[in-house]
Amino acid sequence: PEPAPMLAVNNIEVVYNDVILVLRGLSLKVPQGQIVALLGSNGAGKSTTLKAISGLLKSEDGVITRGDVTFLGERINGVSPDQIVRRGIFQVMEGRRIIADMTVMENLRLGAFIRRDNDIKNDIERVYAYFPRLKERTGLAGYLSGGEQQMLAIGRAMMARPKLILMDEPSMGLSPLLVKEVFGIIRQLNRDLGVTILLVEQNARVALSVADSGYIMEQGKIVLDGTAAHLAANEDVKEFYLGQG
Ligand code: ATP
Repeated sequence: PEPAPMLAVNNIEVVYNDVILVLRGLSLKVPQGQIVALLGSNGAGKSTTLKAISGLLKSEDGVITRGDVTFLGERINGVSPDQIVRRGIFQVMEGRRIIADMTVMENLRLGAFIRRDNDIKNDIERVYAYFPRLKERTGLAGYLSGGEQQMLAIGRAMMARPKLILMDEPSMGLSPLLVKEVFGIIRQLNRDLGVTILLVEQNARVALSVADSGYIMEQGKIVLDGTAAHLAANEDVKEFYLGQG
């Protein structure tokens, strides 16, 4: 039999403000060690799916009304966001959400809030090795460029030493060159550090170029899934998500 996936989302339904049904029986699996892409157009419910996993729904009046989420064999829906981080899941939010009036170093230290060990300095050096540019930026994080803020957001996630990183649209607002750089780093995190990654993207092409497998969602449900190569070759995916070229 197949080994149990690291993360399993089982038939979840999510409602905002008691009325708006956004996820309608969504299921997906993330095997340990993989990069899994979650693709779909605007408003399909991709960000909501990530928040349902990380426990961040509650702060937006969202609730899982049916189904469950399991991580390493344990049910995590209903668990608080900080406890979910402690279990090994870290979400890199859309729009990056770095703290503008703190320095790069202070932002990185925030990522390590769950840790008690003394390796934090080493881990900051490790982040700088991945993102040398961050080391040069000694001022407030608010002065970083969009690309640098994205790097800082990923660096902050690395500081938590997560088993699973949830990434919400890392390509958003970045130039093609920076997209390439950031996705190169995502692949490196996965290969070198063994971090499992669930990647939400509207840029299907770049997501499928680094992912092992993927899911396509529409209106709160998965409509197609398969290996990244299989999806990239699918005629519907090509037409609706990959555009020309
Ligand atoms: P995008 O790429 O635009 O973020 P998405 O696929 O990530 O799209 P979601 O952000 O999950 O989609 O939103 C799915 C639906 O849920 C949308 O119709 C959105 O308007 C609605 N929605 C999202 N957040 C809330 C909220 N806090 N309260 C009410 N409705 C919400």
